[in-house]
Amino acid sequence: MHPTREPASHAGWTPSSWRSHPIRQAPHYTDAAALDAVEARLRRYPPLVFAGETRRLKAQLAKAARGEAFVLQGGACAESFNEFTADIVRDTFRVLLQMAVVLTFAAKVPVIKIGRMAGQYAKPRSSDTETKDGVTLPCYRGDIINGPEFTPEARIPNPARMETGFFQSAGVMNLLRAFASGGYANLHEVHRWNLGFVERSPLAARYSDLAQRIDETLSFMGACGFNQSAPQINETEFYTSHEALLLPYEQALTRVDSLSGQWYDCSAHFLWIGDRTRQPEGAHVEFLRGVHNPIGIKVGPSSTIEDLEKLLDILNPKDEAGRITLISRMGVNKVRDHLPPLLDAVRRSGRTVTWLCDPMHGNTISTADKVKTRSFDSILGEVRGFFDVFQEANLRPGGIHIEMTGQDVTECVGGAQCLTEADLAGRYETFCDPRLNAEQSLEMAFLLAEELTG
Ligand code: PEP
Ligand code: MN
Repeated sequence: MHPTREPASHAGWTPSSWRSHPIRQAPHYTDAAALDAVEARLRRYPPLVFAGETRRLKAQLAKAARGEAFVLQGGACAESFNEFTADIVRDTFRVLLQMAVVLTFAAKVPVIKIGRMAGQYAKPRSSDTETKDGVTLPCYRGDIINGPEFTPEARIPNPARMETGFFQSAGVMNLLRAFASGGYANLHEVHRWNLGFVERSPLAARYSDLAQRIDETLSFMGACGFNQSAPQINETEFYTSHEALLLPYEQALTRVDSLSGQWYDCSAHFLWIGDRTRQPEGAHVEFLRGVHNPIGIKVGPSSTIEDLEKLLDILNPKDEAGRITLISRMGVNKVRDHLPPLLDAVRRSGRTVTWLCDPMHGNTISTADKVKTRSFDSILGEVRGFFDVFQEANLRPGGIHIEMTGQDVTECVGGAQCLTEADLAGRYETFCDPRLNAEQSLEMAFLLAEELTG
C-alpha cells in the first residue's frame, strides 16, 4: 500500500473530490487544526485491510449475484467504544458462524460472512437534535464522532475520536483474524454450539430435525476420511464492513494498492452507503465512486428506479460483478409492493448486482414508553416477503443483512422466548437501533433454513 502515489484517476475523482459535493449527516468540527492533525496521522497509519482481501470478497459477492453463494452480513447497529472487549467480539462472531453453518446446509452454497464490525462507529440520524425533559442538545452521531451521554460537552464532535476508532477497529480486526484462522471456527465446534441452542429452545422439536441432519452429514464426512485439520473444517473467512459515513476518516484510510495501482478504502473490506446519504450528486456517492472495494447501497421505500439506475451508472460504470450489493430495507408492509419494480428495472437493464434483505430498518417501532424496538415477526415477515419476491421473479436472493449481537439482550420483541415490551427494560443495551439477541439470531437462521429448503 502506498498512500501518496496517485494512479490515473477516473473522471476527476480523487480521495478528496467528495469535499466539493453537497454532504448530509456530516459533523461540524470546530477545531480545524485538531482535525487536520488527526487526518494527517491516520493517513500514515497501516491499513486495516488489504486490497487483495477486498478483491477476494468481490469475487465471492459476484457468485452471490449469480445465486452461487449466500451472504450473511450482521452485527451491531453501532459498535461502542465502551464495549471494546474480547467477549463481545467473540460472541457476535460465534453467532454469525453458527448461523452460517445452518444457512450453508440449507442453501447448499457457500455462505459469505461479513461482520458489521471493526469500524461500525458512525451513525446517520433522522434529527440533528435530541430533546429530553425540555433540554435540547445536538444528536449523538456514533462514538467515532461524539459521545452518547446527554451533556453539551459529550455532544461536541471531537476529531480525536477518529483515532480511537481506528485503534479499536485494529484491535477488533486482530481478534477476528485470530478467531477465523486459529481453530475457534472449527465446524464441529460450531455445530455443537448449535445443538446446545436447539436443546435450550422452546422450539427444540421444530429445530432438531435440521440439527440432526447436519450432525449426520458431519459424521458421514468424518467416516469418509475428510481431513479434520483441513482449512475447510478448521478455519473460516470473515470480512468486515461498516457504513462509509464519516468521510474524513474514510479518506484518510484510502490508499493506492501497489499491485493493481488502484485506490482502496482500507478501513474495511465492504463499505455501504446509507439510506440517508445516497443522493447521486452527493459527497458519499462521489467518494465511493473512486475506491475499488465492493460497496453496498441501501435501497428503501423512497428509492426510485431513476435514482437507482443513476447510482449504478456512477458507482459501477463497467458493470463489474461483485462491485454492487443492493440492500433492500423496505419494511414488512412495503417489501412486496416496492421491491418488485426495482428488482425488475435492474434486471431489465442487464446490470449485475447482489441483492440482500435488511429486515431491520423498515421495521423499527416505538413502544408507548418511547423505547425503540422491532418485532421478530415483522423481521421474519420481511425476509419471507423478500424471498417470495425473488421466487416470483425466478431469481435467487443474495442474502441477508441484520442487526444482531451475541449477547443476551432484550431489544427486539418476540421470538421463541416471547420477549414482551415489558421485558425490554431488562437488558436494553444498544446505543442506537434494537438488535436481535443471540437466541433470536439463531432462530432466524433456523427459520430461514426452512424457507430455503422449502
Ligand atoms: C444502518 O444500517 O444502521 C442504517 C442506519 O440503515 P439505513 O441507512 O438503511 O437506515
Ligand atoms: Mn441501524
